[in-house]
Amino acid sequence: MADKFDVIVIGAGPGGYVSAIRAAQMGLKAAVVEKWISEDGKPVFGGTCLNVGCIPSKALLEASHKFVEAKHDFDDMGIQAGDVSMDVKKMMARKDTIVKNLTGGVAGLLKGNGVTAIQGTGKVVSSKQVEVTDQDGKTTTYDADNIVVAAGSVPVEIPPTPLKEGLVVDSTGALEFQETPKRLGVIGAGIIGLELGSVWSRLGSEVTVLEAMDDFLPMVDGAIAKETQKLLKKQGLDIRLGARVTGSEVKGEEVVVKYTDAKGEQEMTFDKLIVCVGRKPYTQGVIADGVGIETDERGFIHVDDQCRTSVPSVYAIGDCVRGPMLAHKASEEGVMVADIIAGHKAEMNYDAIPNVIYTFPEVAWVGLTEQEAKSKGIEVKTGSFPFAASGRAMANNATEGQAKIIADAETDRVLGMHIVGQHAGEMVAQGVIALEFGSSAEDLALTCYAHPTMSEAVHEAALAVEGHAIHMVNRKKKK
Ligand code: FAD
Ligand code: AMP
Repeated sequence: MADKFDVIVIGAGPGGYVSAIRAAQMGLKAAVVEKWISEDGKPVFGGTCLNVGCIPSKALLEASHKFVEAKHDFDDMGIQAGDVSMDVKKMMARKDTIVKNLTGGVAGLLKGNGVTAIQGTGKVVSSKQVEVTDQDGKTTTYDADNIVVAAGSVPVEIPPTPLKEGLVVDSTGALEFQETPKRLGVIGAGIIGLELGSVWSRLGSEVTVLEAMDDFLPMVDGAIAKETQKLLKKQGLDIRLGARVTGSEVKGEEVVVKYTDAKGEQEMTFDKLIVCVGRKPYTQGVIADGVGIETDERGFIHVDDQCRTSVPSVYAIGDCVRGPMLAHKASEEGVMVADIIAGHKAEMNYDAIPNVIYTFPEVAWVGLTEQEAKSKGIEVKTGSFPFAASGRAMANNATEGQAKIIADAETDRVLGMHIVGQHAGEMVAQGVIALEFGSSAEDLALTCYAHPTMSEAVHEAALAVEGHAIHMVNRKKKK
């Protein structure tokens, strides 16, 4: 007879492993089932995020950014670095080491918190039972009072560009190139496409990004998106909007891509092509027929605001449910459901989830854009401050970008913070806290910020909401 658990989590990504750890901390007997297995037959924890997502992509972004700095910016600072070159294989090996350390760390955290890790593919077979098939095909059924499905997501594939190993790849393949391609095509100007395109562009690829939509980063505040597009173009990314990919043909070591734009049919040849057209929930086969858990036509599991599915003892979190596909969103949901299962009250503020694009400069935002607020009929006032006027930005050689705050015109409550600039991803935490605490733009304006810091731009943007920025001449002057 297999063990019985208070909670079994299916999937050990940032949603699942965090949920299992929290459940154990709450005194529950918790297990996590993970199907990912290493070449040497060991279970691999951390999901997309640690293995083929957030962390490896950031390792490559950091290395490629340092390369650009050493090659182009050091001289300005008086640093004579000589001939700078990139050893791509070594950069990849460093990334692999980071991934290995982190995934091993999760194994240690699970063990240290008393979570039972079960290797195998999990399936919800009834409201309180999970069947696990291990790597040898043996199945074991575990009883659990509660089940959390955290099965994550996988890249979307599109018929015009079937994958071909090493040549036409998804985001996972793009983290494995062993040399810099000369001509690189990227389909999709979403977050992942822009990050991966940036990595290889910095290392010398001629990068063309083909994006079907006419708008660039429509989820980002208009002013910030416009500035980001300009900055990325200056860096050499050829971003073609309104360019829908309709076909491709592999010819030897090259791939010919067909797309349509306003001028008609176009064709481009690349040495590598990255398909970054979004991700889809990975829920096929995770729930047995007849359990009664509802999914939509795309495979997302239906959940309420507290991640309850249509079956009371089963919860679902992270990329396999509605909402942004972000690691921190998955983790917060994991904590919330563990707390609920442990009998506590818990909820999440879905209006205060930050987003970051780790290009250089970074783009980060939380809350409403100016356009969204207006379309909801909210009258807003805004304040912006350019990093060009920041002393710290000058010292850092990072004067590009701006910070922008959107506040309710009547109540002054902060509705959104949008930043394009160095370390924007760190700075946006101030906006998250402002939203969580319901603070006003004036609260931020009256806060004492350390000098000199990049965050002073956020302070100045808050002051600018009332036309009172100190370190620039305000466009609107108010008493
Ligand atoms: P996943 O991380 O996908 O984990 C799900 C796990 O469940 C996997 O390990 C899978 O093997 C396992 N599993 C699935 N089905 C079963 C089953 N039946 N039985 C057992 N195990 C199963 N997000 C950010 O917040 N910041 C970033 O900078 C960022 N960068 C990214 C860069 C790239 C290139 C990509 C691809 C993604 C990035 N993301 C980023 C998104 C982030 O990785 C995901 O939002 C996050 O991993 C979702 O977590 P999850 O736990 O829901 O699912
Ligand atoms: P995201 O979902 O943020 O990862 O972004 C994926 C992007 O890919 C979206 O902006 C889509 O418009 C874009 N996209 C999807 N299909 C195509 C296509 N056939 N050609 C060009 N762009 C596409």
